[in-house]
Amino acid sequence: MMNERLLLQQERLLQTMLDYSPISVIVLDTSGTILRTNPYTWEMSGYEDHELVGRPLHMLSECPVADIQYVLQGNKKRFESYLVHKSGYRVDLQITAAPVAIDENVSHVLFICQDISERRRINDRIRYLSNYDDMTGLPNRKQFMDHLDNALELYRDRYIAVLYLDLDRFKLINDSFGQEFGDMLLMQVAERLTRCVTERDMVARMDGDEFALFFVDVESESEALQKGELITQLLEEPFVLQDHPFLLTASIGIAMNEDRNDDPGSLIKKANIALTLVKEQGRNNYRGYSPDMNMKSLERLTLQHDLRKAMSNREFVLHYQPQIEMETGRIVGAEALLRWNHPVKGMVSPSVFIPLAEENGLIVPLGEWVLEEACRQNKAWQDAGLPPIPVSVNLSVRQFLLQNLYEKVEHVLKKTGLDARYLDLEITESMTMDVDRASHCLMELSKLGIRISIDDFGTGYSSLSYLKNFSINRLKIDRSFVRDIMQDPNDAAIVAAIIAMAHNLNLQVIAEGVETEEQLDFLKEHRCDEIQGYYYSPPVPVQQLEEMLLAM
Ligand code: C2E
Ligand code: MG
Ligand code: MG
Repeated sequence: MMNERLLLQQERLLQTMLDYSPISVIVLDTSGTILRTNPYTWEMSGYEDHELVGRPLHMLSECPVADIQYVLQGNKKRFESYLVHKSGYRVDLQITAAPVAIDENVSHVLFICQDISERRRINDRIRYLSNYDDMTGLPNRKQFMDHLDNALELYRDRYIAVLYLDLDRFKLINDSFGQEFGDMLLMQVAERLTRCVTERDMVARMDGDEFALFFVDVESESEALQKGELITQLLEEPFVLQDHPFLLTASIGIAMNEDRNDDPGSLIKKANIALTLVKEQGRNNYRGYSPDMNMKSLERLTLQHDLRKAMSNREFVLHYQPQIEMETGRIVGAEALLRWNHPVKGMVSPSVFIPLAEENGLIVPLGEWVLEEACRQNKAWQDAGLPPIPVSVNLSVRQFLLQNLYEKVEHVLKKTGLDARYLDLEITESMTMDVDRASHCLMELSKLGIRISIDDFGTGYSSLSYLKNFSINRLKIDRSFVRDIMQDPNDAAIVAAIIAMAHNLNLQVIAEGVETEEQLDFLKEHRCDEIQGYYYSPPVPVQQLEEMLLAM
């Protein structure tokens, strides 16, 4: 009697434990048929008791036959497996399989299963976060460096090309359109870059708008450069965001493991040095690293340093390039172009120092100097009785983004006494990307009575439909199109189209970089209003322009 009660108690105890256990317990017979399950098993699997009991275990979860054998021999076994929930998703399990034996005779097997899906998910997430970029889903810097390290080891006797890519003027896009817009663009860029890598290669997001790629088993330097070309082409197709086509370019530096001591760090550094050079030389290009570039980057630092002193040392001068009216052949304007007379190096080209000045912010005071000097000079010519012409001044992005540009210009006009209609400001297309801001700013400027020209037209992001909303007076066709008018029918067609379109919008058109008679004839035929270029005159010092004006 007592014995029976004790047994009943034992049974109740066991039942209660099973009922409330937060762990799944499955009792099997020696053939693997389910005899009993507890409520947590139902919760975890989605099956009810009657759907499980009497069924073979493998309807729920796989367990290798060898393991079962091992347990049937009286041993305990711990392993990871999973089951498929009734509604289809996977539940990761940690299983302890234990034999139930009396006198070494195994009568049952107990499966004690713990749901470790959450732990798995967290671990996967941690692994993912430490190896991938969350936004684009690309591998991150850490993974890139790890894999590059492995690849260098694995392909020790072959070439590996490392490409470091920086999107051009991406900060401007972020500032103009907002971070979210920038992020969407980055995701599209990431997607395109993945198209050009195989499984052995890799593309990663290193930082902000910087990506890196490596290609294994590259035959030669020219093959490495081809990769740069390939990526440049991949990006050429406009990106489409919110139904607007959007042009994006990149600068790419390329390095190869030519030095057997190269490690991931040194390769990235070399690719970066090459990249810096690409950026200095106008971006939207690629080039390979060469050892003399180390010197060049040092030179660049020195130049930056010299640039700071150049203002106070009065090393800058303005040259002026005449702008000619097609119909009359008369000078109808002059563009002020900055020249730096370096005490040791002599004349340094603006295409070298303007990017440097933009980088260190010096472009703002420098640009203000140019504006004032050009206005002062123009007023002096007029006071000397020369025929009055407008002077064109180039504005840098940084200047254009200044809050008080309008007041600055107004102040300079007042200070120099130049009539507003004799000042023309040249801005580039990229400055008009933030359409609302640009149109407000241009409106304010033109209220002053000055003229606005769009410089280097055709090279940048151009949303022609916006042009008519801007208060602008003139388009300057970029010299790259003019250069190839005679060779490239596409360029000829573009030039003809720009002129026709500008006239439709009531804008003047000037072609820059006109060097030959043939170019002149083509432009004349298509009714281009004005030209500027070596054909007529290069940029010249003040005195020479005076002589030209006198001769008119
Ligand atoms: P840009 O505004 O497009 O100026 C025209 C450039 O084309 C000038 O180069 C000029 O010398 C050159 N050029 C003129 N005619 C011909 C030609 O027939 N053939 C060829 N191949 N080139 C011609 P430069 O003076 O070296 O200036 C380069 C760029 O530097 C300018 O391009 C402009 O973007 C920038 N820059 C120059 N001065 C200033 C400045 O005061 N402020 C700012 N922000 N940028 C400036
Ligand atoms: Mg210009
Ligand atoms: Mg230009």
